[in-house]
Amino acid sequence: MTIFLDRRPLPRIAVVMLAAVLLLAGCASGAARATYETSASPGPEAGAEGSAANGVAADGGTVAGAPADESADAPAEAVPGIDLAAHSPADPESPWVVVNKRVAVDPVDYEPDLTTVRGYLVRPDVAPDLTALLSAAEADGVHLTLRSAYRGYSKQASVYESWVAQLGRAQADAVSARPGHSEHQTGLAVDVGGSSRPACDFEPCFGDTLEGRWVAEHAGSFGFLVRYTPENKAVTGYAPEAWHLRWVGRDLAGYLSETGLSTLEEVFDVPGGDYGR
Ligand SMILES: [Zn+2]
Repeated sequence: MTIFLDRRPLPRIAVVMLAAVLLLAGCASGAARATYETSASPGPEAGAEGSAANGVAADGGTVAGAPADESADAPAEAVPGIDLAAHSPADPESPWVVVNKRVAVDPVDYEPDLTTVRGYLVRPDVAPDLTALLSAAEADGVHLTLRSAYRGYSKQASVYESWVAQLGRAQADAVSARPGHSEHQTGLAVDVGGSSRPACDFEPCFGDTLEGRWVAEHAGSFGFLVRYTPENKAVTGYAPEAWHLRWVGRDLAGYLSETGLSTLEEVFDVPGGDYGR
């Protein structure tokens, strides 16, 4: 999908075709998600970014078979322009760095500068939008809470290895990200929760809560993506997580919203899907 390297706005027809591909990819994989995030051990943070789409094939490459939508008659200029080369998808210092099961943080033990928002560590450039997001939710009467944020390499390694010891590597991959493969290590990702149905924190039902619906509607306005959705799991390699928000800044979030794209992998033509080995 190299067309995303182009700096020009996507033609409407390309957007429609890609949306069709995403739908096909999402429907093709029906793996159930393990509900492990509230497990007592090794802790609620264990799989916040690590809920593998176990069994999800990284086979989203059905572009050639996607039918063209003849109703795609909107002018190309309706899609906003953005300089997609403004920030690197490979540099861990970049707000647009892509980290997934195929692509680890480089260097793998990278540690970002950090600051604190409501007791949780995030990169300083995330803090203003995160604070604004939480305040806006509160103003709407939605009690959104932070449940997890930065998680370092050594912490992720110990969590992952504890799962390997308990379950073996294959099952560990289904419940915890391998060290170096978690967005939480970049300081750009947070997990949110709510008070209306606390039992749904870190659970699939979070998406149906008052807080989950608010996040789905408003996160993009504050520069965040709901990174893992039912529609994009074949591309991201992760099962849906309605609570995992990845900050990319408002410009890119707006671009994704306008184009209908939902993954950084597609925008920056970065490999996704499950682990390569
Ligand atoms: Zn997370």
